[in-house]
Amino acid sequence: MSQPLLPPATIGILGSGQLGRMLAIAARQMGYRVHVFSPDRQSPTGQIADQEFVAAYEDLDVVRQFAQSVDVVTYEFENVPAATAVTCAQFAPLHPGPQALHVAQNRLREKEFMVKHGLPVAPFVEVGSLEGLLVGLAEIGAPAILKTATSGYDGKGQEKIVNRQSSIVNRHWEAIGQQSAILEAFVEFEREVSVVAARGMDGAFAHFGVIENDHANHILDVSTAPADVPPKVAQEAVAMARAVLEALDVVGVLCVEFFLTGDGRLLINEIAPRPHNSGHLTIEACATSQFEQQLRAICGLPLGDTHYLSPAATANLLGDLWFQHANPKSEIRNPQSPNWTAVLAHHPALKLHLYGKHTARPGRKMGHLTALAATGEEAANIVRKARARARARVGSPL
Ligand code: AMP
Repeated sequence: MSQPLLPPATIGILGSGQLGRMLAIAARQMGYRVHVFSPDRQSPTGQIADQEFVAAYEDLDVVRQFAQSVDVVTYEFENVPAATAVTCAQFAPLHPGPQALHVAQNRLREKEFMVKHGLPVAPFVEVGSLEGLLVGLAEIGAPAILKTATSGYDGKGQEKIVNRQSSIVNRHWEAIGQQSAILEAFVEFEREVSVVAARGMDGAFAHFGVIENDHANHILDVSTAPADVPPKVAQEAVAMARAVLEALDVVGVLCVEFFLTGDGRLLINEIAPRPHNSGHLTIEACATSQFEQQLRAICGLPLGDTHYLSPAATANLLGDLWFQHANPKSEIRNPQSPNWTAVLAHHPALKLHLYGKHTARPGRKMGHLTALAATGEEAANIVRKARARARARVGSPL
C-alpha cells in the first residue's frame, strides 16, 4: 500500500453539488486542501473549496490541469464521463476506481454485475426497441418499470407501465426518449433501505448499518437510522454491501439501495459509488461521518469508528419549500426563503444544513434537517414536523 496522503494534501472533487460540499467541509476540517471541477461557478462545493476549476467535463485540457493540481481525485456523482475519469487517473489516483464508475453509470451493467455475483435483483430484461419492450413486457408482466440505462436519477428517465396495449406502451417508450433501457418488474416492497459502507486501501471494511428510506415522488424524503428491520435482514444487507464493495474493488464510500419485500427478501435496486443522501444523518449521529470516512479511505488513512451515538433521522429540504405561499405562478417568480426560525424552534435537537444553492427549484435538493432522538421514529417525527413549519410561514425573500 502506498503512503497515506496527509494534510495539507489536496483533494480533487469532480462535481460540485451538496455531496462534494460536505466532503469538502470534512476535508477542510482535517486540514486538507480542496480543488473542485465542474461547469458551475460559486457552486455548493466551490464555496468551500480552495480552488474552483470551471469547465465542461469534456474539456480535457482543463481536466488535465485540475488533475495535475491535486493529490487524489474522487467524484460526487457517478455520471462522470469515462474520458474525464481516465484523464484524471493519468495524473492522480482516482478513488473509487474506474470499474465502480463503469458499473454504476449504466443500469444494465449494474444489474448484470449483480447477477454475475449472485446478488439478488428484481427480474429485468434489456430493452433496445419498441418490439423488444413489448416482448419484455410479455415476459416480465405488468406492472413494470421502464428505466433508461444511463443518466436516470430521482425517478427521471423512468416510466411505470401498467397497461400492455401497444399504443400505450409506445407512449412510454417515447417518453424515455426511445433509448437503451431496462424493463424491471415492479416490486411491491414493504420498505426501502440502504447500506452506506466504506472500504479502505488495505481492504478494511466499515459500514453505517441499515438506514430506512421513505421516498416522495421518487425522491428521497426522510431517512431513519437504525432501520426497523430484523437483525438477520440487517446482516444480509451489510453482507451484500460488502460483497459489492469487494467485487468492485472500491476504495471509498459506496451506497447500496435495497427493496425489502413483505416476506423479508432483499433486492438490490441500485448502487452509488460515493457518499449518499441517506447517509447525511451520519454527520451528527455517528462517531465518523460518511464524508470523513470517504476522505480517510481515499487518502489511505485508517477508517474511522462508525458506531451510532444515537438514533437519528434526516428530512430533505426541496426547493418546493421556497414556492408555497402565494399562487403557483407568482411563486415561481418570487421564491421566499422558508422560515428557519420557526423550523428550529420546533426542537433543540434539530440541525439545519443548507447547501448554498443560488436558485430554488421544485424538486431540487436545497438542504436537509437532521435530529437525534431516543428512537429513530421519534427523530423522524421531529424532522417531519419541523419541516412542516417551514411551510406554514413566510420568511425573508431568497
Ligand atoms: P431509482 O432511480 O431506480 O432508485 O428509483 C427511484 C424510486 O422509484 C425508488 O427508490 C423506488 O421508490 C421506485 N422504484 C424504482 N424501481 C422500482 C421497482 N422495480 N419497483 C417498485 N418501485 C420502484
